Amino acid sequence: MNKRLFADVIVDNKSTKTDRPFSYLIPDEHKFTIKRGMRVLVPFGFGNKLVEGIVVNVKNSSDVDISKVKSIEEIIGNKPILTEEMLKLGIWMKNKYLAQYIDVFKTIMPTGISKKLKQYVSLNNGISFEEIKNIKSENQKKILKYLYDNGESSVDILKNKLKIKNISSSIKALEKKNLITIRSILASEVKKKYKKFVFRNFNTFNIQKVLQNINKRAFKQLEIIKFMCNNESVALNDLMIKTESSLSSVKSLENKGYIKIVEKEIKRNPINKKIPRTKKLELTEEQKNCVDTIYKDISEGKNNTFLIHGVTGSGKTEVYLQLIEKMLQKEKQSIVLVPEISLTPQTVERFVGRFGDKVAVLHSKLSLGERYDEWRKIREGKVKIVVGARSAIFAPFDNLGLIIIDEEHETSYKSSMSPKYDAIEVAQKRCELENATLILGSATPSIETYYKAQQGEIKLLTLSKRINNRKMPPIEIIDMKEELDNGNKSIFSKSLYEAIKENLQNKKQTILFLNRRGFSTFISCRKCGYVAKCNKCDISLTYHLSENILKCHYCGLAKKPPTICPECKSKYIKYFGVGTQKVEEIVKRTFPKARVARMDVDTTIRKGSHQKILDKVKNGDVDILIGTQMISKGLDFPNVTLVGIIAADITLNLPDFKSAERTFQLITQVGGRAGRGETEGRVILQTYEPEHYSIKTAKEHDYINFYNKEIAIRKEFDYPPFVDIINIIMADTDEKKLYNTCYKTIDILKEKIGYEKIKNGNIKILGPHPAPISKIKGYHRWQVLIKCKGNHLAFLKKIIKKVFINTTYENIKVSIDINPNSIL
Ligand code: ADP
Ligand code: ZN
Ligand code: ZN
Repeated sequence: MNKRLFADVIVDNKSTKTDRPFSYLIPDEHKFTIKRGMRVLVPFGFGNKLVEGIVVNVKNSSDVDISKVKSIEEIIGNKPILTEEMLKLGIWMKNKYLAQYIDVFKTIMPTGISKKLKQYVSLNNGISFEEIKNIKSENQKKILKYLYDNGESSVDILKNKLKIKNISSSIKALEKKNLITIRSILASEVKKKYKKFVFRNFNTFNIQKVLQNINKRAFKQLEIIKFMCNNESVALNDLMIKTESSLSSVKSLENKGYIKIVEKEIKRNPINKKIPRTKKLELTEEQKNCVDTIYKDISEGKNNTFLIHGVTGSGKTEVYLQLIEKMLQKEKQSIVLVPEISLTPQTVERFVGRFGDKVAVLHSKLSLGERYDEWRKIREGKVKIVVGARSAIFAPFDNLGLIIIDEEHETSYKSSMSPKYDAIEVAQKRCELENATLILGSATPSIETYYKAQQGEIKLLTLSKRINNRKMPPIEIIDMKEELDNGNKSIFSKSLYEAIKENLQNKKQTILFLNRRGFSTFISCRKCGYVAKCNKCDISLTYHLSENILKCHYCGLAKKPPTICPECKSKYIKYFGVGTQKVEEIVKRTFPKARVARMDVDTTIRKGSHQKILDKVKNGDVDILIGTQMISKGLDFPNVTLVGIIAADITLNLPDFKSAERTFQLITQVGGRAGRGETEGRVILQTYEPEHYSIKTAKEHDYINFYNKEIAIRKEFDYPPFVDIINIIMADTDEKKLYNTCYKTIDILKEKIGYEKIKNGNIKILGPHPAPISKIKGYHRWQVLIKCKGNHLAFLKKIIKKVFINTTYENIKVSIDINPNSIL
């Protein structure tokens, strides 16, 4: 008997909430060609609309009644778009992050290759103009007339030209009446880019003969021939510009057979300037130890994870480069992840300088077309190294040897959109599936990573010295409480003010740093440094102006803000929070002659604006640069000799358990910016809490000491790495319905978890309460935070899936984030 085969297909269908593969019959002609990871076209839903899908399984039974199962319509492409490993990675991600299949696969596959179905409509044979005139519906008549005049047209064009409301229902009606035919065509969203070139098609020895055959008065044609005499080929556009001729002159020469016009595919190349090649450097003792240790494990076939903890300027990149080179010799491919904001031309040049066109670059500012071309270069094996931001972790290599994640502590490695994946975890899984090695690098490793290194899960390597034994920059700490005592109420301490003034006189540049634009404000006393905190969660309380209330965004505690300081009884208790724009205003007022630039999210929305500001600083057109995170890394300006941190407290008091860690990282990174050139740099840091451990240890460049203090607090208050945090946000336009559903769901959740586990403290449920941002675009938002001890996570996820995903309560929107960067 002829055995039937079925495929499990994940379809991209937004209108259904069912998140599962659908069974399809594999037609006989595809039985031997179909493979997991292939893209297919399948009929879906009542209307059997053709949609794109991806085959995740091939098997010999169907989940659906055989008589009802539909057949695969078409296979797209002749090889799987996803390798077996990437498919496994996707399914792992789905379970790990409680995400939908389709979201996961859309993340793994590049945007550029997702093909869209385009519908075309044409008049059926033999329909006469008379018949069209007799149609009653005006809309239908319009469509038919258009098709009569213009022939087959896409539905998009009809929509644009005819401006008919709900045109698809008219089209369907016409199809029913058998007047038109609808045809679906797959069209790639992104086109390959072509360019026209002109080739010489005559022998230059015969030039006289060629010229004789051209009319003496066709000056332009003669000119083109002369030009082509000296150039074998030229881009059509260039030819027309250089000879100042028109297309018709070129065409008539083509008709005479003297030249050929050929379309050639152009691969867009985002690296568009010539980058000088660099040679490998002689490694320092410490660097050599790193390379040798890692390479020894690779040679022995062990795929371990390494952490390189190297102070700023210790030469981590050279270690990466030399390991990549060793991988090239083994014909293995490497992926290098850097944070989006560090993906500057300088960073890219370091890799391209060493490996030339073996490098592809992937980042979010690429156009769709550029991304598509880079993806194909990788897939076709034309490049061996990918440098990119978070999503480059999915680069479609098939012989991966090494993944490097630089600045591994950066928050941008965690996706904020579903699937809310962590690129480090995904990298680890990918290395496991593909027998590759993972290297994490940082001057300030995340607490979670360093803890793993301490536990022996990750191998720790250290670069403790700067190259050429350069000194670490000195950091001066200014106590802003003392400034107030001395009668200084401005945002500049006396030291910082004097230092900026001096820098302006000496024609040196200054960077003023202010962490992110103020959204959340906390309350602090300017006299004694007191900050209002939740004593259960050890988190700063956030001030909500509209309700005049202080809230803890972890447990929901709410209380009235104090009017006098509970510690020192002073009345200088204030709402903190001044943004970059305000600082810019004050700087301009205080130093009217200085040339000031500001760099933050608002001033860098447009493509290229980031680079423009940096170029201005580089060219010396800016005296004072004010900015957020964006300026804290990757930059290298020898003339910047002063870095001022306006208020370390903003980072320190973010309503987040990672605020101390962020402060330490920030001071270290910003400090690394100063004094890169000949003159020694200065860092001045202003704060109301100069005694805070993260500030003191950062001043001493003492990561280990910081880590020891921080890990104790994480343990004491139940934060990662000792627990996993799951943030669930529910949203709806109807606040009352949301409120009721929220409480009902949490009750069900608690019951399913079992009160035993909750009582033991293995699983803690905080909330529900309104989310920090309690309303977005008309949707009210409520939040539940769950803290879960390590070995209970798998169990908890199963229950969350049952309660929040498989059951949809009254159509309330649910978003789940496991170990979020921030709960805001
Ligand atoms: P990190 O990434 O650890 O902050 P970098 O990789 O930026 O440090 O290195 C700092 C500087 O030292 C760079 O200019 C780099 O070219 C240089 N450098 C790195 N390794 C060596 C070496 N072995 N010999 C000489 N210079 C080196
Ligand atoms: Zn006080
Ligand atoms: Zn709390």
